[in-house]
Amino acid sequence: MPSSQNPPEKMMFQLTLRRRGISDQAVLRSMEEIPREAFVEVADRANAYRDSALGIACGQTISQPFVVAYMTEQLQLQKHHRVLEIGTGSGYQAAILSRLCSQVLTIERYRTLADGARARLRKLGCGNVEVVLGDGFDIPASAGSFDRIIVTAAMERIPEGLTQRLDPGGMLIAPVGPQQGVQTLVRILRTETGFERKELVDVRFVPALPGVAREL
Ligand code: SAH
Repeated sequence: MPSSQNPPEKMMFQLTLRRRGISDQAVLRSMEEIPREAFVEVADRANAYRDSALGIACGQTISQPFVVAYMTEQLQLQKHHRVLEIGTGSGYQAAILSRLCSQVLTIERYRTLADGARARLRKLGCGNVEVVLGDGFDIPASAGSFDRIIVTAAMERIPEGLTQRLDPGGMLIAPVGPQQGVQTLVRILRTETGFERKELVDVRFVPALPGVAREL
């Protein structure tokens, strides 16, 4: 009998991630420990462990679990890393990251989403995540620099101002491409002498839009 800790849909969730190629044990553990049902709309709770994106408030989406796991694995996080996320949404990706690094700063342009994510993350005890209402295209200089940057909304191109926020040895992952059409996950590594760019897989994200949203 599966225990209440591990209902069949959660076991399938892990199996699907493994079958699709996620092998980093720390990433799998974080995906297992963070309850995705706490981040989806109440009406979608029964679908929380399906491998699909779901709608959240403000016309946005919580990403597909495989894509969350894949991006997290590609980031090669270390315990001491300071991470910037652009596009808090539900806060799910930030919660997954929080188990694997020392500090997460996550930026969201909708107040409703930022407030909701902050409350969920607090309730789950993710004390190393700071949720800020703001524009990911305009990060204040006071935010400093980061070991890792993860963008979870599609950008037509990666702003130079963002890659400049990487520490040497730092890495950024972002979906790059048109709002309607094929976007590609791009990984940028900051070396001692410059930047190395690698294209990973094709994805579909909601667009990154400039400015803090005027609606809630
Ligand atoms: N990582 C989220 C899903 C992201 S959906 C999760 O785990 O649930 C993309 C989010 O990026 C949306 O909430 C959208 O409002 C936000 N976004 C888009 N452009 C932005 C910008 N310029 N700055 C900050 N957030 C932005």
